Amino acid sequence: MPELPEVETVRAGLARHLTGRMVERVEIFDPRPLRRQEGGADAFVQRLTGRTFTAAVRRGKFLWLPLDDGAALVAHLGMSGQLLVHGTPGALAARESGDDAHAFLGDPDAPRVDLTATRAPLPAEDPDARPRHLRVRLHLSPIAGDAPGGAVLDLVDQRMFGGLRVTDMVPTADGAPGGAGSLAPLIPADVTHIARDLLDPHLDRPAVVAKMRHSNRAVKTLLLDQGIVSGIGNIYADEGLWAARVHGLRRGSALGPRVTARLLDATGEVMERALAAGGTSFDALYVDADGAAGFFARSLAVYGRAGQECRRCGALLRAETIGGRSHVFCPRCQTRPRSARA
Ligand SMILES: [Zn+2]
Repeated sequence: MPELPEVETVRAGLARHLTGRMVERVEIFDPRPLRRQEGGADAFVQRLTGRTFTAAVRRGKFLWLPLDDGAALVAHLGMSGQLLVHGTPGALAARESGDDAHAFLGDPDAPRVDLTATRAPLPAEDPDARPRHLRVRLHLSPIAGDAPGGAVLDLVDQRMFGGLRVTDMVPTADGAPGGAGSLAPLIPADVTHIARDLLDPHLDRPAVVAKMRHSNRAVKTLLLDQGIVSGIGNIYADEGLWAARVHGLRRGSALGPRVTARLLDATGEVMERALAAGGTSFDALYVDADGAAGFFARSLAVYGRAGQECRRCGALLRAETIGGRSHVFCPRCQTRPRSARA
């Protein structure tokens, strides 16, 4: 799964290219990505046609595009989903500046921007203007500078794990903005169970620390629980635990308040560095199957490094399974609790 820094890179790109654009027409090539749309594909077309995108908002790894009627287009990219913007002036400028990171799929002559960061760029296998695995295409209202063929937003998904749906928005429980990218205190009705993320200034950190310390679950499992704090996936959980010198099997209830706060700080700092790497170089587009940005992956301390030396003490890193997920840790820096069972 893409993690928060990669999704934030996508969000910023969508905001730049789509805000203020109206959906003129919806083309559905395959209805399966719309399986979670209430009312089905017909409702999807009806609710989206004629509506204007007002922002692009993210909470944790969830992404939505608010519409001018108060609803929102919610995108789940899953493992293989990609949102591709073609034909906008930004895409054309990237093409002309020779920035290859912006245009690596499909016809090399067609201006397009891959904003998803969910998988590594591949050389074009099909030179047709219509991307392979194209499921849904939104035709955008024209503005000056668009490509002659017009501007579109495509959902391309090889394995059908991603999806789109239009859903109503509801007020946030705490009255603060729903997520990064908009000041509106609104959130899609089916995203309300997702907690605020570590980079959200409105996150109630003392409440997160208290929740973790009242749980007997493994601390790594708590970090991955999107209902406690969102946006942390396997990569950044392991990196944060190593940075804070905490073994993932420690129970939440066994950690002191300062250690728990330090763990949250460390995990947030790793994500901020990954975000900075993606935001400055666009290398976040070059990712592995887990969504680790290729550029940033080279600076990871533990993820993907089992059997290699700890960058801090030189001990050989080990891996074990916690809650069905692999946990890579340093046996010297991160003391494994004696009685713990995975
Ligand atoms: Zn170590």
